Amino acid sequence: MKRYFRMAGLCILMILGCSACGQAQIENIQSIDTAMGTVVRQSVYLTDTAFAESEEAQSQATSSVLSDITQILQNLEEQVLSWRMETSQVAAINASAGNPQGIALSGEMADILLACNQVAEDSNGALDITIGEVVRLWDIDAWASYENSTVQDTSTYVLPQESEIAEALAKSGYEKLVWNKQGEQETGDSAYVLTLPDEVQIDLGAVGKGIALDSIHAYLQECPQVCGAVISVGGSVLTYGSKNGDGAESNPWKVGIVNPLNTEENIGYLTLEGQWCVSTSGDYERYVEVDGKRYHHIIDPSTGMPADSGVRSVTILTKDGLESDALSTACFILGVEEGMELAEKYGAQALFIDANGEITMSEGMEQYFHLY
Ligand code: AMP
Ligand code: MG
Repeated sequence: MKRYFRMAGLCILMILGCSACGQAQIENIQSIDTAMGTVVRQSVYLTDTAFAESEEAQSQATSSVLSDITQILQNLEEQVLSWRMETSQVAAINASAGNPQGIALSGEMADILLACNQVAEDSNGALDITIGEVVRLWDIDAWASYENSTVQDTSTYVLPQESEIAEALAKSGYEKLVWNKQGEQETGDSAYVLTLPDEVQIDLGAVGKGIALDSIHAYLQECPQVCGAVISVGGSVLTYGSKNGDGAESNPWKVGIVNPLNTEENIGYLTLEGQWCVSTSGDYERYVEVDGKRYHHIIDPSTGMPADSGVRSVTILTKDGLESDALSTACFILGVEEGMELAEKYGAQALFIDANGEITMSEGMEQYFHLY
């Protein structure tokens, strides 16, 4: 029972129109697409510098930003993050499991894995990217995301047995990774060699979308024609700049928070100015139902079962995408009390929604969150 998402071509939904702001002409372009196994929504605001020369230059400027971002996501998946694609760095790391020589990491991959390791330590192993074998056992990647729920068919799904879960858990544990620092490198390569014990497999599903936000942010900073953008990659959202290029406080970005008890609606929204990363982990994002019970995609590494901390979703607000995504997963597993402490340690704002729809948020979140 393997199901993959149909890759729809980039679909530019509409050009909302131009607005005059002093002398500046601002154009908003939007698209909806799929990449990295999830839905990607882009809304980009371009300044008149993009349209200065001709209509042709304008159309090139608009479409190239959208397609560049889609390309960034595809490259990330194919070259860095996917454990399924042989071309990726994660696949190469996983293939090295059991090799006592280990594998030399790129600078980019060392940064990612070290950041994940830090959150693993700080969360007492709630976030654990060596959980690959457990994720594969549950076959989580085959479950449709809620945004693609029409392709969900789990009628033939068979739950893993306890003994299988125990076996898969024995092949995970971030403490099993052996790091070797081999002096500073002058190339783009890192100085790290990583050794994975036999059968330990890495899965970056918990941080991939946040990493994507960081890459898109870096790209947007190199685009003088972009004055603002809101890009969502599944449950992670990047806000950037402003709608009219002047950092207008009167017109902040609005990022909706899904009601985990009824995913058809938002329970509230955040108002944000400038650059932020918002990641939500929820039990509605990917799941199967067997005999009326929901089994979702966020696994508690202490049991190998879907986490059961009493929360239905956690939203984290930070400046850093990887951090927001890593923390939302870890906080979901830890629950309100310990999760709040973890978020605080990172200076991140957190919002938890429990099974009764009750909301608990960090003090700092209150200025951003509005209930519907
Ligand atoms: P997210 O939706 O960001 O919370 O990430 C969930 C995804 O991360 C799952 O689909 C798995 O691929 C992976 N995953 C599940 N549980 C864990 C965990 N405890 N630590 C690290 N990755 C996990
Ligand atoms: Mg996450």
